[in-house]
Amino acid sequence: MSDARRERMKPLRPSRVMDTSITQTGGNSDDKVAFKHRYGGTGDGGPQRHLAGSGADVSQDDCGRAGQVAGRDDAVSGTSGLPAGDGRRAGEQVGTAQQDDDLHERKDAGQLTPESAGARDARTLADARRALAVRLLEGGSESAALDARLLMEGVVGERDPDLFAKLDYEAEARLEAFAARRLAGEPVWRILGEREFWGLPFRLAAATLEPRPDTETLVDAAIAHLAGRRQEPLSVLDLGTGTGCLLIAVLSEFPNATGLGVDLSPEACETARGNAAMNGMADRALFRQGSWTDGLERHFDLILSNPPYIRTGDIEGLDVSVRDHDPRLALDGGDDGLGPYREFAKTLPAVLAHGGVVVLEIGAGQEEDVIALMRAGGFDWRGSRRDLGGHPRALIFTMN
Ligand code: GLN
Repeated sequence: MSDARRERMKPLRPSRVMDTSITQTGGNSDDKVAFKHRYGGTGDGGPQRHLAGSGADVSQDDCGRAGQVAGRDDAVSGTSGLPAGDGRRAGEQVGTAQQDDDLHERKDAGQLTPESAGARDARTLADARRALAVRLLEGGSESAALDARLLMEGVVGERDPDLFAKLDYEAEARLEAFAARRLAGEPVWRILGEREFWGLPFRLAAATLEPRPDTETLVDAAIAHLAGRRQEPLSVLDLGTGTGCLLIAVLSEFPNATGLGVDLSPEACETARGNAAMNGMADRALFRQGSWTDGLERHFDLILSNPPYIRTGDIEGLDVSVRDHDPRLALDGGDDGLGPYREFAKTLPAVLAHGGVVVLEIGAGQEEDVIALMRAGGFDWRGSRRDLGGHPRALIFTMN
């Protein structure tokens, strides 16, 4: 995508597309240990004490770091997010917080009408956003200011809105509904119903995983591996397509390619179809309900998948924002989390075109196991691409 286009389609949060290089990472690396440690999740098992972060940077498998990473952008932890010029910490906005409490917790809150709301001075976006950040912070969010900014943008329907504008009654009501959902632990992107991936917008459904920035590593890997074939009419297969984000992102980079997305969930297929249309890719992307490669008789030049790879027993220990809001089908990789890769090792040889490439996302600590499984299926491992956290994320395989 051109810089201009990417700029125009600027996501709610800047994309974390990165420039990593393909590395051969066969052995045990320190970061794998760190990755595993962070992934931990299962250790303390119980419900999270805090709201998770916005989920903006969370991976399917290392959800524990959501708040931590999102917090980097969080005004409360010292950077921006609150209106410019406001040097105080969000937690010190006592007056505003009090006004906010008055607004949201007064006994007659249920009877607010447009008339009564109009009778008091409408709040500015800045005041409402600051008050929301305080509420979310007090509710335990580790990314309160960022959450408040994104939710406010969702309420008014634009990025970087005029913070001096006043919120009307309907907007206040929408904001309150969003706040209640966030305080109940729902991730920001689920509330907004849309998340950006590769600079493109994707609608979410209950049956779809939220696209994660780390999954963009697969798009990078595909582009790097197929650099000399960008203009060819390649055929692309995306297994477990969910929102369709991987397929649609790749098609946006290969202008003459066409693709098929497969998902077990009919709702996911429907959502992916809508996303293809929304991104101008409807004529190049087909989606069909099905199980992996069952019934496919064609060959594909590029096969992508971000399969479910969490061990069944680890799901209960995941962060609530993932466990309770991402679909189980999109997470559960079976007893050892490797079920889908076992399937791929057996079935992908039959659908990979000569000279084609397979790019698979993996979870924490799965690199060696997945390489071994795919090698046993006759594939050559061509390298691993690391995500922004430095962890092997996309594994590349070919077959001769
Ligand atoms: N391919 C989709 C994504 O990466 C869905 C993946 C999944 O459901 N496991 O977001």
